[in-house]
Amino acid sequence: MHKLTTRLVRGFGTIVLEDLNVAGMLRNRSLARHIAGVGMGEPRRQTTYKTTWAGGRLVVADRWYPSSKTCSDCGAVKAKLPLRVRVYHCDECGLMLDRDLNAARNLAALVDELAGDTSTASCAGTLNTPDGNPCQTHTVWAAGTATGRPAPPGTGQRRRRKATTA
Ligand SMILES: [Zn+2]
Repeated sequence: MHKLTTRLVRGFGTIVLEDLNVAGMLRNRSLARHIAGVGMGEPRRQTTYKTTWAGGRLVVADRWYPSSKTCSDCGAVKAKLPLRVRVYHCDECGLMLDRDLNAARNLAALVDELAGDTSTASCAGTLNTPDGNPCQTHTVWAAGTATGRPAPPGTGQRRRRKATTA
């Protein structure tokens, strides 16, 4: 795990992670036996502090951002995409490609959205730019999804720490 996260941080100036809904995944019986005890938070923890050390940029996609269901070509969003479906096929534009590659393209596009006008971003993510100002964090929420949900763990921890020391 350390070799992987070090290689990622050294090889890329910007890394995008997805904030997975692990509690929800554990409730799915077929997924639970694969992910239980794997330590799902460790890659994120390592990537976060190593990115800070290296002066890189870490973008955390909100857990409700539909990275898999969204067409990386035309932006159409499927209502459902079962896990067993490994190839993404867009009903709107006909795009066909590997499910994970489609999701990766959408996550990469998040960086451009966050770098641009955040008020028009159509999805949610958190951008940490430790280079310069370590406390500079941009959060973009999708319309209608911000209510009733906790902030992404990274920003929440920072706020909580500030609150307890104030
Ligand atoms: Zn499409």
